[in-house]
Amino acid sequence: MNTPHRLPVLFVGHGSPMNAIEDNHWRRTWQALGPQLRQRAPGVRLILCVSAHWLTHGWWLTGMDRPRTIHDFGGFPQELFDQQYPAPGAPGLAREIAQSLTLPEQQGEVGIDEGEWGLDHGAWSVLKPLFPEADIPVVQLSMDYGRPPAEHLAIGRQLKDWRSRGVLIVASGNIVHNLRVMRRDVPDNQAYDWAVDFDTHIAGLIQAGDADALADFQSQGEMAKLSQPSWDHYLPLLYAAGAADPDEHVEFFNEGFQAAAISMRSVIWG
Ligand code: ZN
Repeated sequence: MNTPHRLPVLFVGHGSPMNAIEDNHWRRTWQALGPQLRQRAPGVRLILCVSAHWLTHGWWLTGMDRPRTIHDFGGFPQELFDQQYPAPGAPGLAREIAQSLTLPEQQGEVGIDEGEWGLDHGAWSVLKPLFPEADIPVVQLSMDYGRPPAEHLAIGRQLKDWRSRGVLIVASGNIVHNLRVMRRDVPDNQAYDWAVDFDTHIAGLIQAGDADALADFQSQGEMAKLSQPSWDHYLPLLYAAGAADPDEHVEFFNEGFQAAAISMRSVIWG
């Protein structure tokens, strides 16, 4: 069942949930990338999605046959709530992946969620434009937000082998994500200086393949605090970077900003 080659790894900046249905630059890039990925990586058995929006105590994988589409947001038009992403789950593979992962000491084992979660908008708002057919099974991996960034990176590193076993890792968050100071009146790609500085700094570390420095982002002082006042949207990057080799080919897409305080920079390794 193993595919002969390693699948790429993606980190996707998802931004506003409206990107799932709005015809904009970000979504058009996702729509163009999906068919390219299918060509480059025809043997995808599973999409393993790490979304900023599933924060748990401990780590969990979705283990249901038919994960439901979760509309985990408020104040958006009905059209967004009407969206469904009916991709199947993969209970068997979820169990195999759970068994393959060793959590940090005292953290027990990766749990299998049989019905609590499903696919949140961090997952489906990008997967739907990427793979509108919803024919590739999707499993989501949660993140224990109470644990330090280095532990998230360590789990990401353990996911690397799955890339040679038909698993496409799609991490979904935002390198800069500060909703408190976002400005809906500001056009795309205008951003605060600290947002540009932090985004540029992180891009340099990604290019240098320095995943340990990525996990140490909080050492970057004020620009890190402002860019990630809570770091739920940053953590998915550590899973993707951990699953890549330091010298692996890396490309950016959707570089730029939404609402002045959300970096849409996205990354593909391999
Ligand atoms: Zn989000």
